[in-house]
Amino acid sequence: MPQHASRTALITGAASGIGADLAKCFYAAGYKLVLTDRNPPDFLDDFSARSDEVHFVQADLSTESGCEQIVQQGLQQFAAIDVLINNAGFQHICPLESFPLDVWHRMFAVMLTAPLRLTQLVWPGMKHKQWGRIVNIGSIHSQVASPHKVGYTSMKHGLIGLTKTAALEGGPEGITVNAICPAYVRTPLVEQQIAAQAETRGIRPDAVESEVFLKSAATGQMIAPQEISSLVLYLCSEHARSVTGANWNIDCGWTAQ
Ligand code: NAD
Repeated sequence: MPQHASRTALITGAASGIGADLAKCFYAAGYKLVLTDRNPPDFLDDFSARSDEVHFVQADLSTESGCEQIVQQGLQQFAAIDVLINNAGFQHICPLESFPLDVWHRMFAVMLTAPLRLTQLVWPGMKHKQWGRIVNIGSIHSQVASPHKVGYTSMKHGLIGLTKTAALEGGPEGITVNAICPAYVRTPLVEQQIAAQAETRGIRPDAVESEVFLKSAATGQMIAPQEISSLVLYLCSEHARSVTGANWNIDCGWTAQ
């Protein structure tokens, strides 16, 4: 039997980037999966060997009913959700002075309210089992700011507050809650930013990458999604029982400066 065959993981934002890699890594580790995104993933056929152990829910996390639908369907399918990975998010780059309030409200809904609501919905089952793992995908922007990213930076800082509070309340119930705070990971979210900056600055995309995105990276390289998934897998393992309430930077040395 695969190592984690008795565990079910719910992963948000699973159609792209970090979420897609998490889905593949957790599947390979033997987990049953509840995957969710507003777009369908294009890799579900890769899971055909255990297709009855993978359930995809197409839903919009900016609505409460979307969050409820995801957990309801997941529990109908697998009876328990042992691991929750709050990964979905998006970026909007704009000076603070003109940052659109409708975008701010949508960011708040997707990047803070949804992680809280999903945590609330899986919490009773985890408490009942006295076992649970929650990982919130924060960002280097949970620790530091960048100009023109007021929405993203505010939500990602807030996610650390949620992580710490949930860790304190979850501790006595066998539930651990941690955040991972990566610098730039090569995903569609970052590729779009590189293309946009290349246009704004009138320079080549590879110059944007080295001169702008990697300016504060001691390692001089973008992060691969697999580097995030490996840490998430560890945090969800039995061996990480005592690791909770922590912010795990994978930031290429950015915050060491
Ligand atoms: P991505 O754009 O490749 O994937 C994000 C996914 O979230 C998409 O599939 C999108 O459809 C989904 N999503 C967004 N809004 C949604 C909504 N309302 N309802 C349902 N699904 C929704 O981005 P990524 O780079 O893989 O980012 C994943 C997470 O990692 C995000 O929280 C992001 O902030 C964080 N992060 C990314 C980087 C990076 O450099 N790529 C760095 C630090 C943190």
